[in-house]
Amino acid sequence: MSKIQQAKFFVTVNHLVDLPKESIPEIAFAGRSNAGKSTAINILCNQKRLAFSSKTPGRTQHINYFCIPDKEDVPLGHLVDLPGYGYARVDFNIKAHWEKLLSTYLQERAQLKGMVLIVDSRRGFTDLDRNMLAWFCPTGKPVHVLVTKADKLNQSEKALVLKSVGDELKSLNSNNPKFGLLTAQLFSSIKRLGIEEADDLVCNWLGFSEDTQIIST
Ligand code: GDP
Repeated sequence: MSKIQQAKFFVTVNHLVDLPKESIPEIAFAGRSNAGKSTAINILCNQKRLAFSSKTPGRTQHINYFCIPDKEDVPLGHLVDLPGYGYARVDFNIKAHWEKLLSTYLQERAQLKGMVLIVDSRRGFTDLDRNMLAWFCPTGKPVHVLVTKADKLNQSEKALVLKSVGDELKSLNSNNPKFGLLTAQLFSSIKRLGIEEADDLVCNWLGFSEDTQIIST
């Protein structure tokens, strides 16, 4: 069983000063709203409602922390669910608050080991996704893109979107030698495609080894 399946809700944060002080590794999940982020987190953690999406803009501007405990309930790592972006009708003040929270978190959070960026396979990268990359990549930390809802595409469409996302990441990497590793994979929560690959990567970024002690059920 994957270690991240032990994840449980830890805290909701709406201001940078309230970010957890523990110096344990964390992985951020980011993406446009409706891209499939909550579903991907739930599938990876094998839980039905760990992360849940809200279609109400005012209620989705928070950062949610999930904690992965060891068998003494001491936190070993955090999964961080960032607010979904891209709502058409968001109040200016909410948008400004969101941008400040997100950009500062991504640029300055020392505990952050990598970003999993959720991109809907039918849209590919949008400019808002590119903003996230522009904020985060200069830290030199890795990004892994989950190209979600791959079940909605046929084989050639899947190959095309993966190539287009991969080409854009490659060009970012080759133009910016200080950027970390930027990778992508196809993902489908419905068809359970790419789950093992994504799980291995998250566990690896969190520094979990095979013998990391975790509660077993
Ligand atoms: P979020 O706003 O990024 O958290 O998106 P959600 O996880 O709430 O998903 C948005 C919608 O896409 C929901 O109706 C999900 O059921 C659907 N969805 C999520 N993942 C997949 C997937 O892999 N395949 C398909 N076909 N639909 C998905």
